Amino acid sequence: MTTPELRPVDVLTVVSVTDATPSVRRVTLSGTAAAVAGAGPTVSLLVPRVGDAAPRWPDVARDGRIVWPSGAHGVSLRSYTARRQDPSAGLVEIDFVLHGDGPAASWAAAAAPGAPLGVAGGGPLGDRPAGHLVLAGDETALPAISRILAAAPSTTRGTALLEVADAAEEQPLSAPPGITVRWLHRGATAPGESSLLAQAVAAMDRPEGEDVFVWVAAESGAVRTIRADLRGRWGLGRAQHHAIGYWRRGRAMSAAG
Ligand SMILES: Cc1cc2nc3c(=O)[nH]c(=O)nc-3n(C[C@H](O)[C@H](O)[C@H](O)COP(=O)(O)OP(=O)(O)OC[C@H]3O[C@@H](n4cnc5c(N)ncnc54)[C@H](O)[C@@H]3O)c2cc1C
Repeated sequence: MTTPELRPVDVLTVVSVTDATPSVRRVTLSGTAAAVAGAGPTVSLLVPRVGDAAPRWPDVARDGRIVWPSGAHGVSLRSYTARRQDPSAGLVEIDFVLHGDGPAASWAAAAAPGAPLGVAGGGPLGDRPAGHLVLAGDETALPAISRILAAAPSTTRGTALLEVADAAEEQPLSAPPGITVRWLHRGATAPGESSLLAQAVAAMDRPEGEDVFVWVAAESGAVRTIRADLRGRWGLGRAQHHAIGYWRRGRAMSAAG
């Protein structure tokens, strides 16, 4: 029974599933306008076990804290990005990298129309407008980078560095004409073991002028290297960059099931 201090989580329902690329599954979900509006741009998903049509969802406290049901429930908390949100149509689109084992990747690999997915809350992407943008990320950051580029004023200049396995993993992006998009192919190197992104940033000089913002998201180790480079060699202050590990090689991000 939910007390007045707690509210039930929003539950979205899978409408359709397509393969955006060989390793990215695009899941379109429906929900109320309020649930869709609150499911992004970054979104805390409550992922049921594969095939569980009636999960024991947690509740959400007034301060946003998740209150888990007692005992085993099989629901895992994972962070994703709403690639697209349309509250008036009640639809949200999420791209899941099919990296192998993991509650979210396994759920997405098996997702079919009618399957439920919980939403514990949404948050910002951490970007801000700037005359010169530098964006760097891997497949997990592609939905966020595509939103940042699509929202950037047409006068924005800069570079987007995107590390993917190969050409088949590239996705069309809509970007201001002054942004150079560079795809980096890691080939047979496993995700999280490549130094391509860090090398590409290391090869760049700090852009002229002060109105620079750098946004980085990828495997945690790669992000740590890039963050140190930006703070050291480029002398960027905290307000001039956002560098977040989106996943950790060899470690689940968080587990609650
Ligand atoms: C703010 C934010 C937004 C994000 N947006 C997206 C998004 O839109 N799309 C998306 O696909 N991911 C996104 N991620 C990353 C996603 O949350 C992680 O990849 C997460 O670990 C996946 O959960 P899981 O249950 O599949 O695997 P986990 O249980 O977390 O991990 C299981 C194993 O899989 C490995 N693993 C996890 N992710 C990957 C990967 N990408 N490649 C290779 N191995 C991996 C782990 O190292 C671990 O060994 C985002 C992360 C954050 C913080």
